Amino acid sequence: MRQDRIGIIGLGYVGLITASCFAHRGYHVSCMDVDKEKLDSLRRGEMTMYEPRLEGYFSEGIASNKIELTGTVHEVVSSSDVIYFTVGTPSGPDDLADLNPLKSAVESASDAIRNQKRYVVFAVKSTVPPGTTDGVVRNLLEESGKVAGKDFGLCSNPEFLREGSAVEDLMLPDMIIIGEFDVRTGDRMESLYRKFHGDRPPPIIRTTPSNAELIKHATNAFLATKISFSNTIANVASRVPGCDSKVVLEAIGHDRRIGKEFLRAGLGFGGSCLAKDLRCLISFARRKNYDPTLLNATLAANESQPDVAIELTESLVGSLHGKKVAVLGLAFKPGTDDIREAVSIKVIERLLKKGASITATDPMAMQKAKRILGDRIDYEESASDCIKAKDCAILVTEWNQYSSITAEDFRSLMKSPNVVDGRRLYDSAEMIKKVGFVAVGLYNPKLAEHPER
Ligand code: NAD
Repeated sequence: MRQDRIGIIGLGYVGLITASCFAHRGYHVSCMDVDKEKLDSLRRGEMTMYEPRLEGYFSEGIASNKIELTGTVHEVVSSSDVIYFTVGTPSGPDDLADLNPLKSAVESASDAIRNQKRYVVFAVKSTVPPGTTDGVVRNLLEESGKVAGKDFGLCSNPEFLREGSAVEDLMLPDMIIIGEFDVRTGDRMESLYRKFHGDRPPPIIRTTPSNAELIKHATNAFLATKISFSNTIANVASRVPGCDSKVVLEAIGHDRRIGKEFLRAGLGFGGSCLAKDLRCLISFARRKNYDPTLLNATLAANESQPDVAIELTESLVGSLHGKKVAVLGLAFKPGTDDIREAVSIKVIERLLKKGASITATDPMAMQKAKRILGDRIDYEESASDCIKAKDCAILVTEWNQYSSITAEDFRSLMKSPNVVDGRRLYDSAEMIKKVGFVAVGLYNPKLAEHPER
């Protein structure tokens, strides 16, 4: 049987990475996006986002004609066997996912299959509330006169990639979830993934479309809760002399029922997915007459967590009015230039409100941050220029390159060596000895007080 041809509708983070990975494995991928500027940039070979290994895979795909950038859903549908919807599902006014971009893409796809005899499979990769694939998506596709499970295949196939390691996650996922409308679709998708992954296939879980959609939401809600839990423990630990949340969280991670991942205290979670999907699940549950108190608390804890950075900075420098503060890191996490819902923006907005003047730096995300923060803050290309002559430095994103800044650098470059380590990147004990240094979750005025200050 010949190799499936892949179609991608929506070339954002998920779409572009999916397209590039399929092309890298030798598949023909036809893709489109409604954003003409984005398409033009990609046609010129300019990447629209940063992700390790992505540019290499994408340009290789373009050079070998494996990736074809088209302008319409019709072209994608007519030249593909399995078509992924990877359009954005931003928060709507009621916090439920705004399905309008998806509906518009599905309507075009429905139009495209109206006069087509060939069987194709549609896979919804966008994160959507349970019931969407077998509801609005199926209904719109069937407006073509074709019938799901007979004339075309349909499934929910959620994506679990992490920005910063997205290519690796797509090539070696922990699991693949196929929420199939019918067995034929499930067989086809399973066979596609078995071929894609060769002799090392990840666990493939076949289930209903609604289960698949809820699995995606449940995963993100669990991860968000684990982060808010870690921050809660850190906030308790920071008030107890002799307690260090890093030690406590690492220790409980040895318990196999808990697991080691996502147990790091910080300034809260950001990014395009966790908060958006959590708000969506809360809103969805409320519509089903259930108020999910645990998830409400997870979200509330995250919203107040950036305040920890402000409180710690004030505890070091007093009033923030007129103080010069360096912000190290703008991306919502290392390895990406994505600043959607980034903690850096929340911290900077709160510092500005208190009258501080800010200089920020980031290896990848400065351009995107400038679009939001403009000239309200200053920017520096290097971390050392950023911290120069500042009253305080706040580490917001734990980029690798910031780990090489030493206590001596902070001491010699800054006006006063006050450092708030929002991600526990540095060796706290060592830093506390050498600079007036405070780590999140380790705040204890007695510990943080440097004898020479
Ligand atoms: P994104 O905002 O980066 O990209 C979405 C793209 O869809 C944009 O390029 C937009 O122009 C395009 N688009 C919108 N309407 C369209 C239409 N009608 N036809 C064609 N293209 C259209 O979003 P993303 O981060 O790639 O996320 C896509 C989906 O995947 C979302 O539902 C998201 O929740 C989910 N998801 C994202 C991640 C992640 O790490 N970013 C991980 C897993 C799942």
